[in-house]
Amino acid sequence: MRDEEIVAAAQVICARLRVLLGEDAAGVEERLSALLARAVVDVDAVIELLGRREETRAAMREELARVRFVPRDGPPGFAAVTGLGDPAAPIFYRCGECGYTYPVFEVGEPVPASCQEGHGPLVRVE
Ligand SMILES: [Zn+2]
Repeated sequence: MRDEEIVAAAQVICARLRVLLGEDAAGVEERLSALLARAVVDVDAVIELLGRREETRAAMREELARVRFVPRDGPPGFAAVTGLGDPAAPIFYRCGECGYTYPVFEVGEPVPASCQEGHGPLVRVE
């Protein structure tokens, strides 16, 4: 999964928040708009925010299935011909101490608070 895809999906969801969340939308909309307005979007924060609620998690999965980008480093024209981007790659979270790695396949999927040894928060691997 590419950051651009997540941002694009989040932008669509931002516009749909009132439909998705009803009266609860205001607070989420404010936070999400602020995140998306930055020059460099903190994708992890966007994922964290949209992952908090089942409605926005489901919407994110839906949007990501729809959004496809031409690979940045693919040969010119190749993606346009096949119409395929690369398949969604898992995002990995890793423990800095023991190297325990946890793959996340869908945006909003919960990440364990720690490795099995309890070393502390897992950090996203870029
Ligand atoms: Zn560990």
